[in-house]
Amino acid sequence: MNSIVVENYLRLKQELDNYGVDLIVVSKGQSTQLIRAIYNAGHRDFGENRVQELRKKKPELPEDINWHMIGHLQSNKVKYLLPWIYMIQSVDRQSLMQELNKRSDKHNISVDCLIEVHIAKEESKHGMTIEEVYQFFETEQYKNYPNLNFVGLMGMATYTNDTSIIRSEFRTLRRIFEDIKHDFPEFKHLSMGMSNDYKIAIEEGTTMVRIGSLIFSKQ
Ligand SMILES: *Cc1c(COP(=O)(O)O)cnc(C)c1O
Repeated sequence: MNSIVVENYLRLKQELDNYGVDLIVVSKGQSTQLIRAIYNAGHRDFGENRVQELRKKKPELPEDINWHMIGHLQSNKVKYLLPWIYMIQSVDRQSLMQELNKRSDKHNISVDCLIEVHIAKEESKHGMTIEEVYQFFETEQYKNYPNLNFVGLMGMATYTNDTSIIRSEFRTLRRIFEDIKHDFPEFKHLSMGMSNDYKIAIEEGTTMVRIGSLIFSKQ
């Protein structure tokens, strides 16, 4: 059982390495045993979308895992993630930035953040609007959060079989990323692409994909 998952991982890793694309293994809902199997195959970057699950798993797994928070984050849960969280990919509003900055300052640390951008058609998805993101950088609002390193963007495409919609949303996100990076060289990561759409994301210039089910499905 473990070996199938590790094979899935190694096959995907090889494919992504050919494109120079980073992989976040999304381990939500998976056992620490399976996570450890992929860790033992050499992987260090894992993503979780719930604070409670992440807090439970972290102490049961090796210290040198880079944990990425990828799910919607309530401000009152920020305190549970610091100081050890590696990156927060779901920074979607300034009230969250305020709390993150305040807590990081208390710990005397900086936290790497991706701003989540709302590119999908579903209202249920989170993220700042495209206009808000441009304004945030044009008016240098990031200076209000000196303990946060804004190192890129994250986005999720609409859940649809229509690949032209997915492609156009990824293309939009890539354009925003390039526009901001032009004046803000700290931008390094563009996190877009999941199990169902990562190939399109690669074609549209992703630098980082977040993949769970494709690795953990045992077929
Ligand atoms: C679950 C999740 C993923 C991975 O989705 P898969 O379809 O399992 O690859 C990626 N990003 C976020 C934000 C998620 O919640």
